[in-house]
Amino acid sequence: MAGKDSLQRLVRAARRAREGAYSPYSGVKIGAAVLSSGGSIHTGANVENVSYGLSCCAERTALFSAVAGGDRKIVAIAVVGGSEEFTRPCGACRQVMVEFNPRMKVLMRGIDGFSEDGTAESLLPHRFRPAGLAKR
Ligand code: ZN
Repeated sequence: MAGKDSLQRLVRAARRAREGAYSPYSGVKIGAAVLSSGGSIHTGANVENVSYGLSCCAERTALFSAVAGGDRKIVAIAVVGGSEEFTRPCGACRQVMVEFNPRMKVLMRGIDGFSEDGTAESLLPHRFRPAGLAKR
């Protein structure tokens, strides 16, 4: 289980990662950081595209970076945005979170002072999980 110090470190990493956002269309900057069971931190920021649907959220950028780097046991993710509305993960990101750990802690922090903690499964209690598709 992640201690208080490592979770505070995670939130700071997400706050710093926000500066890496590429958001020339919305102007919205979001940072995310994930903590692996081994204590590694991987970060991400939102990356937009002129073809809007190709944009990727900070949460998925960070999660995919962790997984691609070999860290699949993720215990927590921190998301930092300007305010509550840009800090709560979207449905797609929630689905990706539960894929890697339904009990993953989700720390949501707004620069404006918004603060809420949850878990991936509390944010997405009825996830897409078709019968017959076993995890390999
Ligand atoms: Zn998202």
